Amino acid sequence: MQVLLRRSEFRQDIGCSVCGQGFRLYWEQNSPSERATMRSIVLGELQEHHSRGQGGDQTSSAHPFDLFRLPSWTGSPKFSRKTLLAGSSRPPSDISKVVMISRRPKEPSQR
Ligand SMILES: [Zn+2]
Repeated sequence: MQVLLRRSEFRQDIGCSVCGQGFRLYWEQNSPSERATMRSIVLGELQEHHSRGQGGDQTSSAHPFDLFRLPSWTGSPKFSRKTLLAGSSRPPSDISKVVMISRRPKEPSQR
């Protein structure tokens, strides 16, 4: 199960604990317990956007500007991610899209 997120200034269902950016959540399921679980997962993924591996951007620009889907993978995030990179048989397009957007440098530093 996944949720869709979109930056929002009006209705903020969840906020990044690093940069404070608010997001609206679009749920595919309605179970309160599932929502609670997803909230914690999504919060972790939002923090992950700020990690060094994603560029280390501590501002809200670390997050995709368009609608995006979380979690990018199911199961244990770190483990699955490593498995994906190692195997790399066919990374789902959703993942590469999110990672690419997050990694895009704000301004290219040419020196
Ligand atoms: Zn953030």
